[in-house]
Amino acid sequence: MHTELLPVSPESIARGGELIRAGRLVAFPTETVYGLGANALDAEAVKSIFEAKGRPGDNPLIVHISALEQLSPLIEGEPSPAARALMDACWPGPMTLIFPKSALVPAEVTAGLDTVAVRFPAHPAARALIDAAGLPIAAPSANRSGRPSPTEAAHVLEDMDGRIPLILDGGGCQVGLESTVIDMTGGTPRILRPGGVTPAQIEAICGGVSVDDAVMRPLKEGERPRSPGMKYRHYAPTGDLTIVRGAAEDVIRAIRGLYDAALAAGRSPLILALSGHIADYGDRRTLSLGANETEMARAMFARLRDADALGADALFSEAVPEDGMGLAVMNRLGRAAAFHILEV
Ligand code: AMP
Ligand code: MG
Repeated sequence: MHTELLPVSPESIARGGELIRAGRLVAFPTETVYGLGANALDAEAVKSIFEAKGRPGDNPLIVHISALEQLSPLIEGEPSPAARALMDACWPGPMTLIFPKSALVPAEVTAGLDTVAVRFPAHPAARALIDAAGLPIAAPSANRSGRPSPTEAAHVLEDMDGRIPLILDGGGCQVGLESTVIDMTGGTPRILRPGGVTPAQIEAICGGVSVDDAVMRPLKEGERPRSPGMKYRHYAPTGDLTIVRGAAEDVIRAIRGLYDAALAAGRSPLILALSGHIADYGDRRTLSLGANETEMARAMFARLRDADALGADALFSEAVPEDGMGLAVMNRLGRAAAFHILEV
């Protein structure tokens, strides 16, 4: 199959809408990462998302809408007052809410769960595509399963060339990490996956929030997480990644030592560091993650792909504090490292 890569324009959006209506796949930009979309109400179309990604069939998809009225047909019952408050404050935006699902949503979308994840994205091209299709669009991240999520159209092409008919190029993604996934089916909102909307923001909007304890640890043998996606080794570069956490000067000293030892052992090491620390590593090979958690969120997946392209097989990354966007950054970095975190 030939994969067309077209800049976002009224014509390419119209073409994308036609393809979605015809049961085909279209990759498109959102403010979080690039999504791989299909008609959310067509079980066959949804199945082809799993095939193109090589995604395990038990990992459910997020349904994307472009207007609030599109929510109620997808869910059973009414959103709670807390859900309403979150929708008012954070939609459109990088937040996904989980509701009991209606019969309209095929089991393929929710991987057989009786709940459905819904997001109203802020990116104008994502909204225009949903409008052009005239349908809700089911979309996971547009990477091959297990690879870092794509934050540029070139990343999508790398993973999906020959597998899908169209990639819409809208440039770099602003947030750079996937949406915050919040389970609204219990009393207090529960964060299953941290993302662009932080726990403090959610707390301020609805007075309470809990963070699923699986967010910052590896799963136990046989454990069934509330968010099935947590089960998989995600976002991973090919090389072994170790995260080093502690006071900045201790982290820098430890990473220099680890790098030198890896090099001496004949490996091809690489350091991922905050921009302010790059000079401290001298002539060792480094990639910058940006100046802070927000920049790190935007840069992280691209740098993990760069690490692969450079052939690095021993990666050492600085940690950031787990507050604000830091929780989402450390969740993704932690999973990429299979939670190999060294405390110094
Ligand atoms: P992706 O779109 O690739 O970022 O993956 C979607 C994420 O949302 C995965 O981590 C899923 O486990 C999670 N998710 C989607 N639907 C549900 C649901 N009904 N219940 C819990 N988690 C969900
Ligand atoms: Mg994904």
